[in-house]
Amino acid sequence: METPESTARPIRTAVLLAIGSELTVGETRDTNSGDLARSLSEAGVDVAWISALPDRLGTVTAALRDALAAADVVVTTGGLGPTPDDLTREAIADLCGEVPAVDPELERWLRHLFERRGLAFARTNLKQAWLIPSASAIPNERGTAPGWWVDRPEGRVIVALPGPPSEMRPMWQGWVMPRLRERGLGQDRVTRTYRLAGIGESAVAALLGERLLRTENPVVATYARSDAVDVRISAVAGAGRSAAALVDEAAAAVLAAIGEHVWGLDDDTWPAAIGRELLAHGWDAALVEVGTGGATARLLGEATWLRTARVIAAGSSGADAAISEVATQARGDSGASIGLAVRAIETAEDTRVELAAAGPWGVSETSQTAFLGGSEGRRRAGLAAAAFLYGILHEAAGG
Ligand code: ATP
Repeated sequence: METPESTARPIRTAVLLAIGSELTVGETRDTNSGDLARSLSEAGVDVAWISALPDRLGTVTAALRDALAAADVVVTTGGLGPTPDDLTREAIADLCGEVPAVDPELERWLRHLFERRGLAFARTNLKQAWLIPSASAIPNERGTAPGWWVDRPEGRVIVALPGPPSEMRPMWQGWVMPRLRERGLGQDRVTRTYRLAGIGESAVAALLGERLLRTENPVVATYARSDAVDVRISAVAGAGRSAAALVDEAAAAVLAAIGEHVWGLDDDTWPAAIGRELLAHGWDAALVEVGTGGATARLLGEATWLRTARVIAAGSSGADAAISEVATQARGDSGASIGLAVRAIETAEDTRVELAAAGPWGVSETSQTAFLGGSEGRRRAGLAAAAFLYGILHEAAGG
């Protein structure tokens, strides 16, 4: 028989299976697969698909078989408990054509866990000490269900982890990932994200065009986030070209189409992006917002460059002063380099946003309509204020 090492293959593709009827009836949300997908994608592994499955042996076995035909590693979470409906081990054993048996070492460990807590050891628990010949146990320091690492022909791997995220995560990070890395994990993948303001996702897609958005490598995709529309470019090396070169080439086309809307890169935030522009001048800022419910302060509040932030309820005294005066007064009162003022006024369906910034250059002022009213309109007013300040500073810096 070939040793697993001699057939080990690099891990480039994965399928994730979340097992448990509590997922398919909607009692529990599958957060495990999202966590695993993120970790694998960051390592350059392509997650082919993610499924949630009920506690039904035939369904799980069939899903494992399909997954294993497509992927280098199949990761399951859940279904490792002691009860008969926890059947991940049975499904893997079926698939491998092997019979589970109690592993003496795991049994000793498990009995010790129960003794430690002064609990009687029910025979049903012995299931958690099962192994099949192709499996090694993945230690679980936070629970009673060890995982399984199962070597399959052609160097493919099945990894079975328990459902509770507090058990699953450390086992994944501390035990499984290092071993997958030893096999050679992922491909040379480069990603770059441009963060946009002042334009909607559909307009971004229209400007980028079908050709750019349909290419398979590099992949260019748009995402509407709460604080930006993101354009993400991701590539793997191929056809004699490095991933970085492919991303650079696509980035040039992306920037030609939507470059004027870009305010940040990758995991940039508004406080960080504005902070960089302010730092270039050695400036700080003070904020006054009216009728926004504090939306701007929530967005920018943690910034170290924000000297003061005042939230004024619409309709309170002084709340209807001209917005440029509010900005000038904020600057004067605080002694900050810049006074930023924003006022949100609900109209029939949307929100009118008045903006002003007073600084060493004088006072800049504008107004615009934010889509929707209520808290969504106020949230968008906060975003408009951040984008307005960023725009002024960026232009002042000649960017
Ligand atoms: P244990 O024996 O430690 O309970 P298990 O592998 O049998 O492990 P399950 O019984 O399937 O785990 O699930 C236990 C709990 O873990 C669930 O009630 C749920 O709270 C959580 N859980 C299970 N699967 C997921 C998932 N995919 N995402 C998030 N939480 C999950």
